[in-house]
Amino acid sequence: MTEVLNGATVLARALKHQGVEYMFGIVGVPVIEIGLAAQAEGIKFIAMRNEQAASYAASAIGYLTKKPAVCLVVSGPGLVHALAGMANAMENCWPLIVVGGSCDSDQEAMGGFQEYPQVEAARHYSKFSARPSSISKIPYYVEKAVRTSLYGRPGVSYIDMTGDLIGGQVEDNNVSFLPISPPSPVSMSCPKKVEAAVDLIIKAERPLVVVGKGAAYAQAEDVINQLVEMTQLPVLPTPMGKGVVPDDSPLCISAARSKALQEADVILLLGARLNWMLHFAAPPRFSSKVKIIQVDICPEEMGNNSASGVALPGDVGVVVSQIVKNIKSRSVQFKFSADSPWWSLLRKKIEANVQNVQTMSNDNSIPLNYYAAFSEVQRAIPKDCIIVNEGSNTMDIGRTMLPNIFPRHRLDAGTFGTMGVGVGFAIAAAIYCRDYWPNKRVVCVQGDSAFGFSGMEIETIARYHLPVVIIIFNNNGISYGIKEDTWENAKKAGDLFITIPPTSLQPNTRYEKLIEAFGGKGYFAKTKEELRESLQSALKDQTPSIINVMIDPGAQRKTQEFFWLTKSNL
Ligand code: ADP
Repeated sequence: MTEVLNGATVLARALKHQGVEYMFGIVGVPVIEIGLAAQAEGIKFIAMRNEQAASYAASAIGYLTKKPAVCLVVSGPGLVHALAGMANAMENCWPLIVVGGSCDSDQEAMGGFQEYPQVEAARHYSKFSARPSSISKIPYYVEKAVRTSLYGRPGVSYIDMTGDLIGGQVEDNNVSFLPISPPSPVSMSCPKKVEAAVDLIIKAERPLVVVGKGAAYAQAEDVINQLVEMTQLPVLPTPMGKGVVPDDSPLCISAARSKALQEADVILLLGARLNWMLHFAAPPRFSSKVKIIQVDICPEEMGNNSASGVALPGDVGVVVSQIVKNIKSRSVQFKFSADSPWWSLLRKKIEANVQNVQTMSNDNSIPLNYYAAFSEVQRAIPKDCIIVNEGSNTMDIGRTMLPNIFPRHRLDAGTFGTMGVGVGFAIAAAIYCRDYWPNKRVVCVQGDSAFGFSGMEIETIARYHLPVVIIIFNNNGISYGIKEDTWENAKKAGDLFITIPPTSLQPNTRYEKLIEAFGGKGYFAKTKEELRESLQSALKDQTPSIINVMIDPGAQRKTQEFFWLTKSNL
């Protein structure tokens, strides 16, 4: 017997057929039917409060699982909000499918409800952006969208669904659901180039392996650990590359980051770009003589900001196994000496930096400095928790002080430096843990400014009973905060708009009270002891919680040898 299907059902069935498990979004005209159809097909729907956070959450699922999730949005403004997450996912090279409702096609060019050139708008922020040509053809577009998001350098696909496509009907014998696309094809590098790369590594006096979030996404941890353990090469992770090689491995030299980058003569770069995060590989942050062996799925990435070295395009897992095999095939087994001057230099630098951080962590002054607060968080959180971390100092210091022992256990502002991703990421991570790692916790450490971007998503956390612990490092502002008395005086003196620095937020805001409105638990901490007790209590039960930690508004990072970004360093 033939079944009559509407476009929403065809879309939902095709997504399910292609392995989509999660749909985040906000429904409204004309996509309510898509949300309902998705649930009817067994796709889990997570209803959020803003499309931005929904698009961030869906993209985090793509990174954690190597399978795209969907972000469902309404037409016009709904899609415009989601462009933020699409841009963020593209910059991070994470797979994501966005489905946008759009006005009925017979109202187009007439000023239809929320009419907007959506396919064109999405094109800037995606690898594939299209509107299905008919209801019967929807599965074709879905298969292409899923495949394109995953193959090559991962990214975003956009599917535009007009109201008439969603509500229109078709008999099921006119629809064919395409087979699930096979996993992303992996490619090897040219064996001669692998040989040349291994020659460079073996001859290097100051070699370094840099592990990026491309290696984490590729799930290449086993072979990368095999390589570094076999060769005893020092390893430096990028922020989200942390955990591919455990932070507590003796090979991980994060605490000597600047020194290692500055003095390395050969760098094996695994799934990371030489962009601002790696200081464009330029002096004085890097040696002018450094040779870089680039391993990346995207051949066009080769040579970006790095003229010398060896280009190894291909899947990082496969290419690293080629490197391992090549090293093993040599008559003398290569192992970088633990007594080398390079290792001695790195170890000395690590010791000095650890000592510096220890001194600042031991400071019990109130309000707390970042290091003192982070030392408590570091001690309390489970070793295997997923850490979401954003803010300015809160993220930079969090990167150095919160250890990741497992890959894909850190989510932060990423390549695009997007503030406001945190709560969305935490929701995605908590849902993922709920389904795949039931005992694992999600801890989201954010600055007060970062929290503000998507703060209302705590209602989503509470509604779905997600046991997320949000820790807000509250310094009353962006980078620098304002002291309460300065603020009070400015208020008395008159014009707040002229006198209050743009970096200021209302001092001593009690953010923890917000979660109480939704049935969660709020904690307020000014001292180390209060923070310790709050963490113990929050981590003991499964209730969503916010710990609001007051940080000295003038507290900063430890003095840096270089400014992080400034071009004058180039
Ligand atoms: P990070 O922020 O850690 O420095 P980037 O986002 O700059 O990392 O770089 C990640 C890189 O990883 C991208 O250039 C992307 O093309 C690459 N990549 C993604 N998947 C793979 C894979 N399977 N194999 C190799 N490289 C990959």
